[in-house]
Amino acid sequence: MRTSLLVCQQSEDARLTYLQCAALTHSYPAQVSYFNDTVYAAEQQYWSQQQADTQPRCRFTPESAQDVSAAIHEIRKFQCPFAVKSGGHASFRGASNIQDGITVDLEHLNSIDVSDDKTITHVGAGARWEDVYAKLDPLGLAVIGGRNGDIGVGGLTLGGTVSHTHKPKRCRLTDLSGGISFFSGFHGWTCDNVANYEVCLARSSLHRALLTPRFLHRSSSPMVQS
Ligand SMILES: Cc1cc2nc3c(=O)[nH]c(=O)nc-3n(C[C@H](O)[C@H](O)[C@H](O)COP(=O)(O)OP(=O)(O)OC[C@H]3O[C@@H](n4cnc5c(N)ncnc54)[C@H](O)[C@@H]3O)c2cc1C
Repeated sequence: MRTSLLVCQQSEDARLTYLQCAALTHSYPAQVSYFNDTVYAAEQQYWSQQQADTQPRCRFTPESAQDVSAAIHEIRKFQCPFAVKSGGHASFRGASNIQDGITVDLEHLNSIDVSDDKTITHVGAGARWEDVYAKLDPLGLAVIGGRNGDIGVGGLTLGGTVSHTHKPKRCRLTDLSGGISFFSGFHGWTCDNVANYEVCLARSSLHRALLTPRFLHRSSSPMVQS
């Protein structure tokens, strides 16, 4: 009895996820990919084999924060299981890829802009640290980012691994804390240097969360704005 109930639940989930992918495809035909697509295969790049072996029903690649908001709005309708990927360096299965669910891949949200006064760097949540450094280095600037350039800005800044494994039931903005940089001895963690997040809430609305970077007073590096 218990087993058949579980099977029924799974097939219902599968049906809903299928419908959800179809709905996303209808609204964003060029941004949804399926198992046999080359885009799907290209985006299935993860640091760990467990994550690369996980197969979402479809992958959605937003081009803007508004796309993320629209996708969350759609996903909420059917309560479909979904995952979010930035650089894909989380090691455990299900962190940023989800079996038979929808994976939202932020790789196209990778803009990097330095403010005119060179004190703030605006970085897309899907950018990699190596691209941030490549942009800032010629300007003689740096940020408090990852020690490995291939890591995503999203996961390292939010401390994804810490928050998802150790605080699964309670996750406020203030709990999200990461990452360790070569400069952390002087300037703190990356999260200590974030001035501003653009956040998509579970109800799909977009907001700006203004923070007071703890190390602003002593940092000569530009702050991160994600
Ligand atoms: C080789 C290697 C070197 C590392 N070096 C360092 C280091 O120098 N310093 C350090 O602090 N850590 C380091 N780490 C740990 C790394 O920072 C974490 O694993 C981090 O979470 C990876 O981020 P990512 O974006 O690449 O991974 P992802 O797997 O894409 O994301 C990690 C988690 O964050 C979530 N997430 C990502 N972006 C968002 C977003 N925009 N909104 C909501 N959730 C999001 C994902 O859903 C996932 O659960 C290293 C890891 C590896 C494998």
